[in-house]
Amino acid sequence: MTRFDLNGIGMTSQRTRDRLVARLRDKGIRNEEVLAAIARVPRHIFVDEALAHRAYEDTALPIGYGQTISQPFIVALMTQALLSRPRSRVLEVGTGSGYQTAVLASLRPHVRRVFSIERLRDLSERAEQRLYAMGSRSVRFRYGDGYAGWPEEAPFDGILVTAAPPEVPEALLEQLDVGGRLVVPVGGDGVQELKVYDRTERGLNVETLEYVRFVPLVKGKR
Ligand code: SAH
Repeated sequence: MTRFDLNGIGMTSQRTRDRLVARLRDKGIRNEEVLAAIARVPRHIFVDEALAHRAYEDTALPIGYGQTISQPFIVALMTQALLSRPRSRVLEVGTGSGYQTAVLASLRPHVRRVFSIERLRDLSERAEQRLYAMGSRSVRFRYGDGYAGWPEEAPFDGILVTAAPPEVPEALLEQLDVGGRLVVPVGGDGVQELKVYDRTERGLNVETLEYVRFVPLVKGKR
């Protein structure tokens, strides 16, 4: 990852990133691997150059097409929830900028392989280019509708949905392996509940973690 080691360059310095990590720690993120991943992944390369100076603020930022790169706290919270145990096959629905994807990919060996779906071709292609440039080879990208999941690669022992469906998509529950965990914001426009589904031998357990705000999960690819 040396090509992205931009230490000392103004707002993109390691110190700026470490300050963000300190904030996430203050806000209750406890998983050290997740905090280290946030410290490692250069978020400024996932936003427009004009916004790069704000990349290490704990806020969502626009990435075009009315979409946003998630707030780092939410990325950390969802990743921490996913990693209640190591995961070997993780599906991400809503690639967007690819930042969450990169955080997952940088968590090897706690996360072994990542599959990421996006319904907007341009975002999917640009995310793939960024991850390739960063040297990630454990990720596969797909331009498609995440409501259908990724049946050819199922089952998954981790699924992260980074846009909000009104209800949990059936296909995602079907593609969740026993022992697997699905983290998904559920609800209409405005506020949603961040839910965690665990598939056990005896069925599904559900828990609500937090109230969150995501862009909607839209049916169909464009
Ligand atoms: N994880 C992203 C967050 C992107 S915002 C990041 O870190 O940048 C949510 C993304 O979900 C948007 O890019 C949006 O286009 C995408 N999306 C919305 N509906 C979708 C669907 N049905 N299938 C796949 N992606 C979808």
